[in-house]
Amino acid sequence: MASSAWSAVLDRIDDAAALAGVDPGVHLRLGHAERVLEVSVPVRMDDGRLEVFTGWRVHHNTVRGPGKGGIRFHPDVDVEEVTALAAQMTLKTAVCGIPFGGAKGGVRCDPRVLSDGELERLTRRYTTAISPLLGPDRDVPAPDVNTDGRVMAWLLDTLQMANGGVHLPAAVTGKPQSVGGTRAHAGGTAAGVVVCTRAAFVALDVDLPGRRAVIQGFGKVGGPLAFLLKSAGLRVVGVSDVTGAVVNEGGLDVSALSGHVRASGGVAGFALGDAIDPDDLLALPCELLVPAALGGVIDAADAERIQAKVIVEAANGPTLTDADAVLDRRGITVVPDVLANAGGVTASYFEWAQARQGYPWEPGLTADRHHQVMAGAFDDVWAAAQRHGVNLRRAAYALAIERVAAALDARGIFP
Ligand code: NAD
Repeated sequence: MASSAWSAVLDRIDDAAALAGVDPGVHLRLGHAERVLEVSVPVRMDDGRLEVFTGWRVHHNTVRGPGKGGIRFHPDVDVEEVTALAAQMTLKTAVCGIPFGGAKGGVRCDPRVLSDGELERLTRRYTTAISPLLGPDRDVPAPDVNTDGRVMAWLLDTLQMANGGVHLPAAVTGKPQSVGGTRAHAGGTAAGVVVCTRAAFVALDVDLPGRRAVIQGFGKVGGPLAFLLKSAGLRVVGVSDVTGAVVNEGGLDVSALSGHVRASGGVAGFALGDAIDPDDLLALPCELLVPAALGGVIDAADAERIQAKVIVEAANGPTLTDADAVLDRRGITVVPDVLANAGGVTASYFEWAQARQGYPWEPGLTADRHHQVMAGAFDDVWAAAQRHGVNLRRAAYALAIERVAAALDARGIFP
């Protein structure tokens, strides 16, 4: 397997394994996914044609708990990318100390051109095809790019119907509240990004209020994040999505932008801001840059142009390996994806735990526990960076690998 996403993760695992000084056998095991399932997904389209899509579900490592990871619907998704994302979930769950392993799924399709009926049939057939890998104690999916609570509800319903109607609320997270989802899930990733942003600014001794933020992506993560950053006192001066990019030096009216996106499908054409070339968004003057769209968007040339002091990676894998060195040289602090967006899987863990208990937690308790996990993870990674004398990404990977290595070592090799 060789794609930039998977080889970048492998390079970073190599580096972190050396840094953490783990046993070479552990290192070897983390370079391989435990299992990779490829499925064909035949779907009867609305016009009567048959189309066959390709999908995957990958378990990278489940030594610390059931596989956990989202499902992505995207025209460019492939097995290497899904494997890279699954490996990142192994590391992410270890960084924030929650008892899950790393998994991920994807279907190569363009959901924007599918009708609701086609999307539902695709989801149900894909779920059936990967169902041997799923279950509350085996592998628990969640939403990712282009999937949402509605897709998770179809997935849950398909699994339950295939199990004779047995209720399986802990089999999937990110569900609508009407079928056992939690209100905290939707904003969990964005809330975690804010915890990391606050902690990074405190650690760097920079005041947050009045600082400028730029967000790439205005979906399930970037949308709520814009509101939360504004509430934290920042000015959101630039936002982009797949349709374009808008800026307003005085601060974008986030509510109006959100209304515009709901009505028109994207940020392009927003009247209370100026349109710019989306390629220039990353280079805008600001203190905080949050990539919250796709992976591989910051290369070495972009890294030379970035003006932010802090990058908090809400997206998975936004920074290419060669950009890391440039950002280090330029003194830009990067809070890496495996820490920065771990608020999502933490919220998923809480949803899973509540489903297992059959008892919903009080909202205040959920928020407190979420904050505790994210703030603790940031402190652990910051301390590891000081201990090893490295940047936060290398520290987070090393910390995660130490924790996975301890579990692998304790359990040994079966049989
Ligand atoms: P989403 O599908 O809801 O939103 C993606 C956003 O990115 C959309 O606004 C889309 O228009 C935009 N986008 C797509 N291509 C773009 C481009 N070329 N330039 C600018 N914007 C572009 O997805 P999401 O759930 O918000 O996920 C965003 C990122 O966060 C992904 O990398 C995902 O893996 C990561 N992530 C999501 C969660 C979660 O809870 N949803 C958790 C952890 C990490």
